[in-house]
Amino acid sequence: MRAAQLANTQPIIYQTFVNAINNKQLSHAYLLSGEAGTPILGTAFLLAKSLICEHPSPLACGVCPTCLRLDGGSYADFVFLDGSEQTIKKEAVQDLSESFERTALEDANKLIYVIHLVENMTPEAVNALLKFLEEPKPGVYGFLTTENEAKVLPTILSRAQILRLWLIPQDLVAKEAISLGINELDANLLANFYNDPVTIKQISDSDDYLAARDAALGFLNALAISSHHALYTSQTETNKLIKSVKSARFYLDLISIILNEIVKVSLNQEPKISELAYQYRAALPNVINPSQALLDTLEARSRLDYNVNLALTLDHVANAIIKED
Ligand SMILES: [Zn+2]
Repeated sequence: MRAAQLANTQPIIYQTFVNAINNKQLSHAYLLSGEAGTPILGTAFLLAKSLICEHPSPLACGVCPTCLRLDGGSYADFVFLDGSEQTIKKEAVQDLSESFERTALEDANKLIYVIHLVENMTPEAVNALLKFLEEPKPGVYGFLTTENEAKVLPTILSRAQILRLWLIPQDLVAKEAISLGINELDANLLANFYNDPVTIKQISDSDDYLAARDAALGFLNALAISSHHALYTSQTETNKLIKSVKSARFYLDLISIILNEIVKVSLNQEPKISELAYQYRAALPNVINPSQALLDTLEARSRLDYNVNLALTLDHVANAIIKED
C-alpha cells in the first residue's frame, strides 16, 4: 500500500492520519477495521512506516532503507503478530510488552507493533493486550486490524482509535489495478472478489490463478462454439490445467462470474465485462439453465473445503452447465 493509493481509495483514513501527524496528536493505538478483502494489513504497515520513514510527505515514502527494513522484518523497534495463519497466544503478547520495556534502538526513537486480526487471539492474549494498552508508554504505537469488529472486545475498542476502511467501488478497484500494470481482463475479473488493487496484482501473477483463468476462458470459448466442444474441453483442458484446490477455487469463482454474466445476457442486460459479451451471447443457447448452473457452481465451490475429488467436482459442474446437443 502506497500513500497516494490510500489518499485515492480511503481519503478519510488518509486525512485523519495526516492531521494526527501534522498536529502531533497520534494515538497510542489504532484499530483498522474492514471487511475481508479490504487492505487493512497494508494500511497498518503504511501507517506504521509513516512514523519512522526517512522522507515522509507526510506519510511513508515506501522506498527508503528504513521503510524497506520495516517491510522486510529487520527494523529493530518493530514487532508484527499475525493472527491470519494461527491464533495469537498470551506468550506472544507478553514477549511484545516485555521487549517494549526497553528504549528504542533505532534513530526514530519509537517502538511500533502491528497485530493483524485481533479477533484471532486467545482470551488470555486479549487480557495481556488490554494490560499493555492500559499503560501506554510514550513513543509506543500500535496498529491493530480486524475483519470483524463485532468480535473485538469493547474494552479494546475503547482503547484504540478506530479507522474504518470502506469497500471501494468495483470499477475503481479495477482501474487502480490496471494502473499497477495488470491487463484489463484480469483486473475486471478479480475486482469481483478483491477490494484491493495490490492483492489483485499479487494474485494475477500467481500460477494457480493463471491456470484457472486459462481454463475458465477456454471453457467459455468452447461453450460459445458448441456443447460438444464444451464437453470435450472440460474433460481434457480443464483437468489438465486445474491441479490444486487453490486453482479450483479460482476456476469456480471465474465460472460463477461467467454464468452470472450469461444470466444477465439472457435478461437482455449489458454484461459487466464487455470484451466477453460476444462469447456470452454465443454460449447462452448451450447452457441448460444459467441461474441453476450458477447455484450449482457456488455449491461446488463451497464443497472444495471438504477434501472432495477435484476432477469429479469439476466434471459435476460442467454437467450442470452444458446442455446436451
Ligand atoms: Zn520511507
